[in-house]
Amino acid sequence: PRLLEAGARVRLVAPEVTTTLGDYAEAGELHWERRPWASGDTAGAWFVLAATDDPAVNAAVAAEAEADRIWCVRADDAEASGAWTLARAAFDGVSVAVAASGDPGRAAAVRDAVAERLRSGEIDAPRTRGGHAPGVALIGAGPGDADLITLRGLELLRQAEVVVSDRLAPQALLDLLADDVEVVDAAKLPYGRHTTQEQINAVMVERALAGRFVVRLKGGDGFVFGRGAEELDACIEAGVPVEVVPGLSSSIAGPAAAGISVTERGIVHDFTVVTGHVPPGDAKSRVNWDALAKSNGTLVLLMAVKNRAAIAEALIAGGRDAGSPVRVVENATTKNQTVRACTLAELGSSEAHHPAVIVIGAVAGRGREL
Ligand code: SAH
Repeated sequence: PRLLEAGARVRLVAPEVTTTLGDYAEAGELHWERRPWASGDTAGAWFVLAATDDPAVNAAVAAEAEADRIWCVRADDAEASGAWTLARAAFDGVSVAVAASGDPGRAAAVRDAVAERLRSGEIDAPRTRGGHAPGVALIGAGPGDADLITLRGLELLRQAEVVVSDRLAPQALLDLLADDVEVVDAAKLPYGRHTTQEQINAVMVERALAGRFVVRLKGGDGFVFGRGAEELDACIEAGVPVEVVPGLSSSIAGPAAAGISVTERGIVHDFTVVTGHVPPGDAKSRVNWDALAKSNGTLVLLMAVKNRAAIAEALIAGGRDAGSPVRVVENATTKNQTVRACTLAELGSSEAHHPAVIVIGAVAGRGREL
């Protein structure tokens, strides 16, 4: 896979291959010749990998490659190999490759240690030429634990010149930023003629048009009750280059952190993510609570702590079993994570604190202690 990723044209000679390699061949990504190696196969190649289970064949392949001055890695014998495959990792435009005297396990361990420190910023990798091009990245920071941002998200965050952050985005991520990065706390933008969202959009667009690389950092996934679409539109309308980096949404990650699978096999075939910020019956509500009450799938409620009593009541009135198991997962994935168990009938009077994901349905009763 790494050769293909690097753009190599790969020719594979083997009587049998694994399913994965067979899939690559079927998709036309590599060329598979279904037969044993034959003399002359390495002619014209830049690089050869001799990885058969027969040392004599590997030796013959390596000898032919050597005669043609083609680098050849022998998978079976590091000592006899003319070249070694290095343990490699890449982060934020920096590649690290490690050799350890033919000990691949040791090379991988050192590679991991270096990659880890590059990611954490412990190893500084300052750029001497240019930074990220001006524009905006809308990044989902994950449900709470700073480690749950994606690699792409972290990579871009490290290049940010301006970060517009949310209250629910992991604050530990902001500690990684250099001192000269401008951090705009979206929660503290003053109310005025414009709504907070309009001000956020304006700040992002204005800074990007001024030639800076702006990261909009949000809790969970910015496109799940996160107004990411509005921010994307604002960038597109202003002609600002924009990239979307998905994040792990608390709607799925929150239950998972409590050992709950929202689609546990054999129990349900669907889950619905609903906002509870408007109570049932309110003129502004767009949720069909009656239909949700009649469905037997998993319900995942966000922003529902305040209205949980009214929601439980509407669900029971619409036909949901009052005894349905419920789990309230607070501060999911952080060190303050708390999981509370109750039934649907008890939800209104049971304790719950923001931020919480409320899971309703049979899968909630299957939560496991982790
Ligand atoms: N875009 C976010 C959701 C924003 S709405 C996402 O994809 O996760 C805000 C709601 O998300 C909160 O009211 C709460 O219901 C939920 N939430 C966010 N972070 C949470 C966490 N760490 N633990 C529990 N619930 C969380």
